[in-house]
Amino acid sequence: MSVEREVGRAFARMDAVGAGADHLNIVLWSDRERTLKLLRDETPGRALDPAGPLASAAIAVKDNIATLDLPTTCGSRILEGYVSPYEATAVRRLREAGAVVIAKTNCDEFGMGSSTEHSAYGPARNPLDTTRVPGGSSGGSAAVVAAGIARAALGSETGGSVRQPASFCGVVGVKPTYGRVSRYGLVAFASSLDQIGVFGASVADAAGVLEVIAGADPLDSTAAENQVPRYRDSAPQGGSASQPLAGMVVGKPAEYFPPALDRRIRARCDAALDRFRALGAEVRDISLAHTDLAIPVYYIIAPAEASSNLARFDGVRYGLRLEGDGLRAMYEATRTRGFGAEVTRRILLGTYVLSAGYYDAYYRKAQAVRTLIAQDFRTAFASGVDVIFTPTAPTTAFELGAKTSDPYAMYLNDIFTATANLAGVPAMSLPIGRVDGLPVGGQIIAPHFEEDVMFRAAFALERSLGEEAHR
Ligand code: GLN
Repeated sequence: MSVEREVGRAFARMDAVGAGADHLNIVLWSDRERTLKLLRDETPGRALDPAGPLASAAIAVKDNIATLDLPTTCGSRILEGYVSPYEATAVRRLREAGAVVIAKTNCDEFGMGSSTEHSAYGPARNPLDTTRVPGGSSGGSAAVVAAGIARAALGSETGGSVRQPASFCGVVGVKPTYGRVSRYGLVAFASSLDQIGVFGASVADAAGVLEVIAGADPLDSTAAENQVPRYRDSAPQGGSASQPLAGMVVGKPAEYFPPALDRRIRARCDAALDRFRALGAEVRDISLAHTDLAIPVYYIIAPAEASSNLARFDGVRYGLRLEGDGLRAMYEATRTRGFGAEVTRRILLGTYVLSAGYYDAYYRKAQAVRTLIAQDFRTAFASGVDVIFTPTAPTTAFELGAKTSDPYAMYLNDIFTATANLAGVPAMSLPIGRVDGLPVGGQIIAPHFEEDVMFRAAFALERSLGEEAHR
């Protein structure tokens, strides 16, 4: 399909589903005329490659990833109207592969949240049930794929912000290994946890985008040199064995299936595990003993890093500035007005745990426990487990407002996802069925830099479930 047709289709779909502020509020910034004009831009370094691996693909990008032609506001007032003078490496690679960025998507402010309700531009709604949240913080990107506007979108992950909304919206969401994708141009939340991730309508769509954006980058020294396989080649070849996962060991960690787990979510996971067995894999009970410490550890480390990273939004360098009587008053007025309640809460928490009297008691201890969580995964994988399977989230999409007054209840929604960020391992969510009409996601976690193995399991499970994944 020609690129003009594909982009025109995406914008028509945006209108048809009401992606803007007056309805779903999943798209923050888009500009049809400008996007169509850019398609004909012949400027060297700007032209689209019509023969690229993503030629004509219309792709949406979370609002905390820098793009040249649309604003990058991180869902925050403090960056209202800000247009980046440079673009993220991941975005540049998409463009060089022939893809077109059609929209910047709504998200929790600076990625802090699990529902896209902490956006300064208002909450987003789940296209499958508009009384419910799409998950977060990359809720807009998940919803844009679920609504059929784009086949793929970029999001970001610090503690589950791609996988959890993928689960809530019934799409595929991938968080790569820490270091697999350059963070250049991703506005920092918690640098030791942040990764750009990918949403796709299918495993193949997500795999195809990840293989384009992954790989070393001279602009990010933490982007790993490891060679990037062709992830789409992980799909079982047509007509191949009926047991494409023969020899694979799938770990089932007891801590992710606690007695209190919603029994219908458990039933969906058990059905997926039966599929793995039918595909030839062995399902093995394992333990990841420090799982229950992931949320407390995450909510020390992530706010600590955020309090430092967000110091740059001071009214001098970017965006909003409110004058005051002197420099301190200007800082205070700007930051008080510019940041929402959740961001302010994180900055306070982070400043507290890093302060001289509490650093050892909280921050240092959290780092030590983080090491234990990473060690749990290493031990499991060293024992012969190839991938780990869990529910992605303890609930399906909840109603708007259900958790906004109780931050701790909101934080607990990341209980099954934050571990992979703390350990740096790759993980993804894919649809495994529905409960009361709402999507349930299954999570596959793999060893560092073994996204190809993760995709192999995901491709096989997706094919085996077929339509059942969406029923
Ligand atoms: N929900 C988690 C938080 O609020 C994770 C967010 C994310 O992954 N960006 O911090």
